Amino acid sequence: MRRETKEIVREETLDPEDWKSMRKLGHKMLDDMLDYMKTVRGRPVWQHAPDKVKAHFNRPLPQDPQPPEEIYREFVEKVLPYPLGNIHPCFWGWVLGTGTVFGALAELLAASMNTTSAGGYHHCAVHVEKQVINWIKEMLEFPASASGVLTSGCSAANIIGLTVARNTKSGYDLRRKGFQVAQHKMMLYASEEVHSSIQKAVELLGLGSEALRSVPVNDYFQIDLQALKTIITEDRVNGYMPFCVVGAAGTTNTGGIDDLNGLADICQRENLWLHVDGAFGAWVALAPNVRNKVSGMKRADSLALDLHKWMYMPFEIGCILVRNEGYHRKAFSLTPNYLAHGEGERGITGGDSPWLFDYDFLHSRGFRALKAWMSLKEHGSRKYGRLIQQNIDQAHYLAELINSQPELELSAPVMLNIVCFRYVAPDMNDVALDELNKQIVIELQEQGIAVLSGTVIKDKYVMRAANVNHRSRREDFDILVREVTRTGKELTISMKNTRP
Ligand SMILES: *Cc1c(COP(=O)(O)O)cnc(C)c1O
Repeated sequence: MRRETKEIVREETLDPEDWKSMRKLGHKMLDDMLDYMKTVRGRPVWQHAPDKVKAHFNRPLPQDPQPPEEIYREFVEKVLPYPLGNIHPCFWGWVLGTGTVFGALAELLAASMNTTSAGGYHHCAVHVEKQVINWIKEMLEFPASASGVLTSGCSAANIIGLTVARNTKSGYDLRRKGFQVAQHKMMLYASEEVHSSIQKAVELLGLGSEALRSVPVNDYFQIDLQALKTIITEDRVNGYMPFCVVGAAGTTNTGGIDDLNGLADICQRENLWLHVDGAFGAWVALAPNVRNKVSGMKRADSLALDLHKWMYMPFEIGCILVRNEGYHRKAFSLTPNYLAHGEGERGITGGDSPWLFDYDFLHSRGFRALKAWMSLKEHGSRKYGRLIQQNIDQAHYLAELINSQPELELSAPVMLNIVCFRYVAPDMNDVALDELNKQIVIELQEQGIAVLSGTVIKDKYVMRAANVNHRSRREDFDILVREVTRTGKELTISMKNTRP
């Protein structure tokens, strides 16, 4: 008798010994990871992966199975010690979220189910996502009739929002005809401080980056409304077709928030689409003392935001909301035969219409909603509001510390959770100061003390702390200022000594 040749993976054998070893490994991983998160404060924020470790990732393709225990050991030795650092309480570089323990556990659950909240189908992940979208609308005071989907992040959300804007405002069947028949060049408007993902979206949408007009900002890094109106008028005179304004709720550089009510008024008068990029700043809507700063946000036609930045959820999760559900669906709905489905029918394709992929360019969509659903229940919206307010208060505390140091100066007003500042050594020219400030950022990273990032404001290189960190305490900012001034002094001396 010929035996069946069959490939199995360990968990399929139902062999009690195999299950026992996998269970043991699983328990160890979980324990290790909980310890890892618990002890994060005691480790350097960041450290270099040595060349030997980097070389480890140039190995040949594994052609035969390796024991999971060994693979895990390799992870612990070669990957885990060299993180980007954003779960650390002293990480304030760029705008990177911190993640939570319960969020990480939710990811385990979602991966175990390996569900896709996909297009739709009849399963509970879809209901979880719709619930989360409804909660987001409620928290941001967006109309209940709006549509929305969870995305990988705000870049994807911006692409979806601007696609709906483009298609709706084109005035013809753009999905069918493309741009071949367009009579007027479609133009959109944003401040010069807008995030780079907007330009990428504009390029991907075939509009060309020239279609994105860059409008100057005022002293608070808000779009200049008068300049905006002038540019729109000029464009109309020159035969262009203005169709959209992108407002910023929290710019990446400085945390500036555009006058969203002012923008909504202009868009209403000019019949333009208002898209708001609220990647992290949208959540100001929850912060008790400052929520009025984004009161105009609910007037947007589309609103893009993240939950992996200021809502502290594990990467990746963002969201797009569109005020007019019909426009949203019209831009993305497409049902091939093999996905035909009917409202209220029996079976897996029954489900409730419309399906989520009627609002998305993606087809397979991971179960991101679970970590959001579980996290929102774990903390509640009011606690999120207090955490966000705390980050803003900490930013103002940091600004006070900076103002109290003669060697430090603020480079922009602190409007939200972002603090831009500069070390100023007497008798150093601007070029040398740029270099000095750059070196301070690098030195603090290299020493594993704190992570800041840098940016350029009014042609000067500045250090930047963006606080979306729920693990930071006031003392952490005391340490930061102490270490920045210490490093600045040391570097000033060594730079002076090496000068010709
Ligand atoms: C981070 C950010 C984005 C991009 O979001 P991702 O989630 O990284 O894709 C867009 N706009 C602003 C203002 C941001 O800060």
